[in-house]
Amino acid sequence: MNNSKIWLSSPHMGGNERHYVQEAFDTNWVAPLGPNVNGLEKDLENYLGNGAHVGALSSGTAAIHLGLILLGVQAGDEVICQSMTFSASANPILYLGATPVFIDSEEETWNICPIALEAAIVDRIAKGRKPKAIIAVHLYGVPYQIEAIKVISDKYEIPVLEDSAEALGSSYKGQQCGTFGDIGVLSFNGNKIITTSGGGAIVTKSKDIKDRAVFYATQSRDDAPHYQHSEIGYNYRMSNICAGIGRGQMEVLDAHVALRRKMHDFYVDLFQDIDAVTVFSVPNDDYFANYWLSAILVAPDSDKGIDREALRQAFEVANIESRPLWKPMHLQPVFESYPYYGTKVAETLFENGLCLPSGSNLTDEERARIAEVVRSFFGE
Ligand SMILES: *Cc1c(COP(=O)(O)O)cnc(C)c1O
Repeated sequence: MNNSKIWLSSPHMGGNERHYVQEAFDTNWVAPLGPNVNGLEKDLENYLGNGAHVGALSSGTAAIHLGLILLGVQAGDEVICQSMTFSASANPILYLGATPVFIDSEEETWNICPIALEAAIVDRIAKGRKPKAIIAVHLYGVPYQIEAIKVISDKYEIPVLEDSAEALGSSYKGQQCGTFGDIGVLSFNGNKIITTSGGGAIVTKSKDIKDRAVFYATQSRDDAPHYQHSEIGYNYRMSNICAGIGRGQMEVLDAHVALRRKMHDFYVDLFQDIDAVTVFSVPNDDYFANYWLSAILVAPDSDKGIDREALRQAFEVANIESRPLWKPMHLQPVFESYPYYGTKVAETLFENGLCLPSGSNLTDEERARIAEVVRSFFGE
């Protein structure tokens, strides 16, 4: 049997990406603007619907940074952030000289816990430090508790920055993820559900806010014949070459979501009779997940030598990549001094959770190799 590496999530081209990239060369639009950038924005706006306005940027991290600026976050402010996430959700808070306040997860969606969120807001307000924004994340493409978070956001009038970097193609009650927050964020990094090799986007509710994002992303140039600046700018626009890849990827987005969801079904099947393992799945039919990554929880059993780490190592020996869930930010050396509200839900998920190969391009042979490791590990 072929023993080549099976990746967690690798780029998967549809075919037309080269066509758009070639067109960029043929027309000499080799710059961080051009027809592919405009075209990708239109494609995303059509896909997301709901009146979304999209600005294509150099990364999802850049989109979070600009999103916080657009929400008025300044040095000395506090910003609430889901603790269990990728560090890129939280880093831009620090870029701005603001302070992160981390919140635990709940067990249904693994995302920001509404109870801990409200407790944190009440306590921060009592301390005279009302948070400026809430960063909520759809981890692994499973939507957070949209309605509960919206109620809290409205009640305390604190805007939501919706980190939808992992959730393009996911939806809640038929509405696309990315369109729920006051600002939405997408990522097209190499390992995401679609890629531009590296890139991201900001999703806003009005053309004015999108134009404002693009203004900041192109060095905040005032309307003048010379270079004139009244505000600090950034170089965050997407390259027209990268956007060409994105246009090709948009043509296969729905097909790739379907294939990721098939990988999730494969794991549900595979672990069906293995009591120690729970496959992470949406709580009910209101939620539609792209299942960017399929993830499981392993109940540790020291008598049988079963735990998350042992399973990860069994995969590694077979040259199959798997990875523990995101390590919560409040446990990260770089963030551990900041406030945290919650218990040990995120921490326990981190200890027992594992992400499994989930790409839309995995083959039957690769699935067979994964199944073989699982069966022999659990002694089936
Ligand atoms: C990937 C990711 C980001 C950052 O996106 P980049 O395009 O890599 O900068 C932010 N948040 C989450 C949750 C992510 O998974």
